[in-house]
Amino acid sequence: MRWWIPGAGLAVVIGVACTTSTGAGTASEPAAQQEERAPAAAEVPRAGSGAAGEGEGSGFERPRPPAMEERVEERERMVRQQIASGVGGRTPVTDEATLRAMREVPRHAFIPARMRPRAYEDTPLPIGEGQTISQPYIVAYMTQLLGIDETSRVLEIGTGSGYQAAVLAHITPHVWTIEIVEPLAERARRDFAAQGYDGIEVRTGDGYLGWPEAAPFDAIIVTAAAPELPQPLWEQLAPGGRIVMPRGPHGGVQELVVIHKGEDGEQREESLFPVRFVPFTRAPELEE
Ligand code: SAH
Repeated sequence: MRWWIPGAGLAVVIGVACTTSTGAGTASEPAAQQEERAPAAAEVPRAGSGAAGEGEGSGFERPRPPAMEERVEERERMVRQQIASGVGGRTPVTDEATLRAMREVPRHAFIPARMRPRAYEDTPLPIGEGQTISQPYIVAYMTQLLGIDETSRVLEIGTGSGYQAAVLAHITPHVWTIEIVEPLAERARRDFAAQGYDGIEVRTGDGYLGWPEAAPFDAIIVTAAAPELPQPLWEQLAPGGRIVMPRGPHGGVQELVVIHKGEDGEQREESLFPVRFVPFTRAPELEE
């Protein structure tokens, strides 16, 4: 099922997620921007109730990374102009917990020094090892789709810079993330420690296998494009949970999908819009 506004003719910036490394050396070009019709706002599933607000006595204290004090106005502008506005026909992100996390997390602290001045631009950026950090809007949109609150257990496949995991950590204290490229996992661990994200569990390995010891998860976010949903991830999803992932061929255009597991274990799927992500890779010894 595809959800477009027929004939609305609205342009939405897509593919602006986690681009392949092509041209990443010259990150001045938002390489993967394309124009497509926008999904209808009313049709986009809303996130759950969102994080419980302050004062509800739940005891979850959101992280307070030191770098949060820096570049506050740039983040405010990023949220207002790129994420919540519906600019260019994008579906505005409306979930309060997501928007607050996007205001709070110091994106610049997860980006290599050379690219840091551009941290709050409306574009993906190279993070080394041929990988990229997704465009802020895509991070926010995928986070909203997860429908999580502070009680949710969330698994991310593709730690990359660590930024998406940090955004999740401002919504729930239960975050696990797996990265297959060792130097990226190491750097994310260092950045999490430096910014006080002590609750994020990082594993170096092939995310295809999930994290069985920590399962079941209420939500799983995959930030690299796979041709199919990895079966272990489906098995590690709790009834009532969701998986958000870019699905499609390497190097081509993929679709952003949300896969729901009903309370009875039934699978239901929604297709949102086209995106372009870096490929999901497999540990060579495990590849079928
Ligand atoms: N969420 C990241 C985006 C990283 S890009 C961020 O916020 O910066 C996608 C990442 O997925 C890359 O770092 C890539 O190395 C990783 N990846 C690809 N295949 C993987 C796999 N099988 N298991 C774990 N990570 C994988």
